[in-house]
Amino acid sequence: MKIAVLPGDGIGTEIVAEALRVLEVLDLSFETESALVGGAAYEAHGHPLPESTLKLAKEADAVLFGAVGDWKYDKLERSLRPEQAILGLRKNLGLFANFRPAICYEQLVDASSLKPELIAGLDILIIRELTGDIYFGQPRGRRTAVDGHFPGAEEAFDTMRYSRPEVERIAHVAFQAARKRSKRVTSVDKANVLETFQFWKDIVTEVGKEYPDVELDHMYVDNAAMQLVKAPKKFDVVVTGNMFGDILSDEAAMLTGSIGMLPSASLNSSNQGLYEPSHGSAPDIAGKGVANPLATILSAAMMLRFSLNQPEAADRIESAVKHVLAQGLRTADIWSAGTTKVGTREMGDAVVAAITKKTITG
Ligand code: NAD
Repeated sequence: MKIAVLPGDGIGTEIVAEALRVLEVLDLSFETESALVGGAAYEAHGHPLPESTLKLAKEADAVLFGAVGDWKYDKLERSLRPEQAILGLRKNLGLFANFRPAICYEQLVDASSLKPELIAGLDILIIRELTGDIYFGQPRGRRTAVDGHFPGAEEAFDTMRYSRPEVERIAHVAFQAARKRSKRVTSVDKANVLETFQFWKDIVTEVGKEYPDVELDHMYVDNAAMQLVKAPKKFDVVVTGNMFGDILSDEAAMLTGSIGMLPSASLNSSNQGLYEPSHGSAPDIAGKGVANPLATILSAAMMLRFSLNQPEAADRIESAVKHVLAQGLRTADIWSAGTTKVGTREMGDAVVAAITKKTITG
């Protein structure tokens, strides 16, 4: 097993270091190799995703990614900005399925802005299609309008499109994931207005017939946005397109209170994947040793489960995280009165200790 380690920028280096320490104490045989990505790669090689980094990622079984970006790169031309590295990795590795679990840990129930009874026990998996939709559809651009409300005016346009194989493969991913959970899939669309999403809905329905044991329902995206804050626990697996998934996965993430707790995985058809926390490089707290490493540690657990076929090791990490939360240890982002504030390194130490001392209870 080979893991490409791409810490990136800002807090990326601090949180990935803790995830690596956790992986090391699991006594698994894997090789890791690190490379620069994002702003750090731009500084060293003039590009956010150098050929050597891409080659390493392609050859690895999985990529453990920190975060990229810093406001100081905002003036660079778009193709050289740190965030382009993520798009380049998604494209070159064919990472079409993004998994974003939103789990509310019992001990953090008060961190949410929703009432505890609405989110206690929450466990949603949002599956977002990652390579199609209006984000990548051609043509796109600016031109002079020849029709519409203001002919002759300057206008901008994008193209929303999905092909049958793109929808079929993400639908299969969702149904298969649901089989390992509560066997319910909600497909989110805008079929009442958009041709692309009527097509999406028809295909998801067809694919659903191959999974008679999984319950399928369909929901318009506007209703899904409301239901996520009104009654989030009614969802199990949510599958949707790239743009709706982008927005809904952030909304679902916030249900749980802290972005510092949320892992993510992006997989291709051979289960090769890129694993990263859902948050960014947090330049405001970088270098201070206060970032929450748990999202990255939980991303490493997802990596063990999905790409490296080590589900028991993944369970051990997840149990260790629950254990340290039960001990009352909190980084600043999830701290509340009555709990113990710790830094990035101490939180990593506590997870390592929970694994190695076998003190895990739950
Ligand atoms: P951000 O997620 O980096 O930070 C948002 C807020 O959450 C900040 O206050 C930050 O301190 C806090 N935060 C984030 N992660 C945390 C953690 N692990 N522990 C404690 N607090 C945490 O988003 P932003 O500030 O909008 O963006 C900063 C940079 O990150 C930008 O350059 C942006 O483009 C980039 N970005 C990168 C990714 C990625 O690498 N996948 C994703 C989002 C944003």
